Amino acid sequence: MNKYIIAVDGPSAAGKSYLSKQISDKLGIVYIDTGAMYRAVALYFIENNINIENKNEVEDALNNIDIKFDRVNEELHIFLNDEDVASKIRTEEIGMMASKVSAIKSVRYDMIDRQRKLAEDDSVILDGRDIGSVVFPNADLKIYLTADEKERAKRRLLDLKIKNPNCSFDAVLEDIKKRDYNDINKPISPLVKTDDAVLIDTTNMTKQQVIDKVILLLKERNVI
Ligand code: C5P
Repeated sequence: MNKYIIAVDGPSAAGKSYLSKQISDKLGIVYIDTGAMYRAVALYFIENNINIENKNEVEDALNNIDIKFDRVNEELHIFLNDEDVASKIRTEEIGMMASKVSAIKSVRYDMIDRQRKLAEDDSVILDGRDIGSVVFPNADLKIYLTADEKERAKRRLLDLKIKNPNCSFDAVLEDIKKRDYNDINKPISPLVKTDDAVLIDTTNMTKQQVIDKVILLLKERNVI
């Protein structure tokens, strides 16, 4: 079987991770959650008081960061220096810090390099902001997944409420707007829909409809 690459990009809380995980399970291919990688870096920087304005400190920190993915009870977990941080990284604080650290050139180059290495041997689906534009411009299928910002805030709120029942819709919507702004206006690797990416607006779609659409696209392009 041929090795292939599926790139899923789009703004925060558009459903990229859910879609990518489902496709990875269905097709038996590797899933790389690149947002989780930036979140793990953000967590390391916070826990180790790294000054993100200091280039040398950032570069030294990157050399001390090991990131791995592994399955735990059928779920993909991310390990930062052998610690399972899958749950720790899912907070708005880490999301905001990830958005900041992902704008640092040395962090981006380092993560892009790691992402390419992780995808060297297998068919993979990766989700992020710059997969189709920068990391794998020759991906076999590029999806740009989006949804109305209020719908995305509603979905994110449901996730966050599991951990923190006091989260408010307005605060989550504000965070989403801020992160969209940061992601779109980043000087390097900004969030863009490339011309060859297929736009899927999931505002009025069920999760299953989105999965079916991607499978159809893969078949139409003879990828699977
Ligand atoms: O997707 P997720 O919300 O987990 O990503 C966290 C942050 O990492 C995003 O807000 C975005 O700024 C950054 N990111 C990025 N490039 C990627 C994936 C994530 O800049 N490929």
